[in-house]
Amino acid sequence: MRATSLILVAALIAAGTLLAAGASDGTRWWSYVEYLASDKLEGRNTGSEGHRRAAEYVAAQFARDGLKPAGESGYFQPVKFKTLQLDETKSSLSLESDGKEQAMKFGEDANIGTRVDPAPSVEAGLVFVGYGLRAPESNYDDFAGLDTKGKIAVYISGAPASMPSALAAHYQSSGQRWAALQSVGMIGAVAIANPHHMDVPWPRVASSRFQMTMALAAPKMDETAGEQIAIAWNPAHADELFAGTGHTFDELVAAAESGKQLPRFAISKKLKAKTSVKRGEVESQNIAAIFPGSDPKLKSEYVVMSAHIDHLGVSTPINGDTIYNGAMDNAAGVASMMEVADHLKEASVKTKRSILFVAVTGEEKSLLGSRYYATNPTVPAASMVADINTDMYLPLYPLKILSVYGLDESTLGDDARTIAKQMEIRVQADPEPARNIFIRSDQYNFTRRGVPSVMLEFGNEKGSPEAATEKKWLTERYHAPSDDVNQPVDKQAAAAFNVLIEHLIEHVADADAKPAWKPNSFFRRYAMN
Ligand SMILES: [Zn+2]
Repeated sequence: MRATSLILVAALIAAGTLLAAGASDGTRWWSYVEYLASDKLEGRNTGSEGHRRAAEYVAAQFARDGLKPAGESGYFQPVKFKTLQLDETKSSLSLESDGKEQAMKFGEDANIGTRVDPAPSVEAGLVFVGYGLRAPESNYDDFAGLDTKGKIAVYISGAPASMPSALAAHYQSSGQRWAALQSVGMIGAVAIANPHHMDVPWPRVASSRFQMTMALAAPKMDETAGEQIAIAWNPAHADELFAGTGHTFDELVAAAESGKQLPRFAISKKLKAKTSVKRGEVESQNIAAIFPGSDPKLKSEYVVMSAHIDHLGVSTPINGDTIYNGAMDNAAGVASMMEVADHLKEASVKTKRSILFVAVTGEEKSLLGSRYYATNPTVPAASMVADINTDMYLPLYPLKILSVYGLDESTLGDDARTIAKQMEIRVQADPEPARNIFIRSDQYNFTRRGVPSVMLEFGNEKGSPEAATEKKWLTERYHAPSDDVNQPVDKQAAAAFNVLIEHLIEHVADADAKPAWKPNSFFRRYAMN
């Protein structure tokens, strides 16, 4: 779009005054966050009344902005889920060695997950398989030469440093992981987080097990069908698994941290699990709206802006608070979407391609709403030419560095560089590949449909005060009730971020050529044309 106004905006940002047309001081954006993250919406859990009210709020603003409804029912695309919750009173987990059975305690030793629908009874041997990955492109195979048939894989989360981050992220997705395990005859998995790369401390992982998990109701959408059990083991108790193997967890983590090849070995123990699962059904909704393009030909192509609107709802109290408001995760991203839509209208912006806003449900349940949308899009699948996603972008300090996930995978990364440069913002690729951010939010489902995608976040310099601020936020507020509207947020920085996103979208929507995967990108294989 208009280069002159970009320069003007950049100048205004530099001067710290963001009150001109085309920018704002972030107050309106914050007012959206305040509503979406208010206690009355009760944490916007997928399928909840609070989520439905949030969806209606966003749809109403899209209507005021003159956007075209692009759901299946007005702005809404209904999505059906089945719900699963482990009944721990009727479930058990133990390790057996030399005929002796050692009972494990849920929440302390390990959790049985319900994202994989567990079999009622499982009894099988264990094999430590390193990272539990198989990536033919990197000539990497953690299963080679092992007796894996009928066994349960024990692995450390992560990937070898030598594996490119996008590839590593892809093969760690639950569907790909299960495909690999299944191909060597394994029946389930025990994941142990690497304590150096945990987003949340174990007690919060443990308490998250009380949250209901969900799966898309459509049976064909189950990517882990056939997997009998998936367990998360407390890293502090991992030696319960390794005792007697001649290996310790510390030794394995040290090897992982120093980039050494992890050993793989049989564990002469048997894992026994009995599970009882409470089941139910809920319906939730994606929200979709179109800003129509102005070019007679290109308007049938869509630049997607996406963000998840759901959060964790009401759950285990922390410091007496039970409402997980999800202000930064991800009311902020949806508010940015609303802000961009508002501004397109008030500045009478015209773009050649159309812009498709999609607020998705079920992100916190394993990216389910976006998977449903990307599989059942309300515009022709091949007409989606880009997805620009935001999720928990953390405007906690001024926007000097932009992290772009998927930066080197497609020309969208180059577009992000162009726009950031105009605003004197530095761009960096995934600063911490071990956290797997690229597969952990909704852009990944668009990626898998061949749509070039990026996710944008605030970046920082290693060892800087900003890095410490981010780290502190992740430790204290990520997926905790304190991610609410009573936290320090840099609204001005969020406003700058909103300007950047809008200009990136406009730039992509106006370009002669649509975005393309880079010739050497792994994700090119998904491209439809
Ligand atoms: Zn989240």
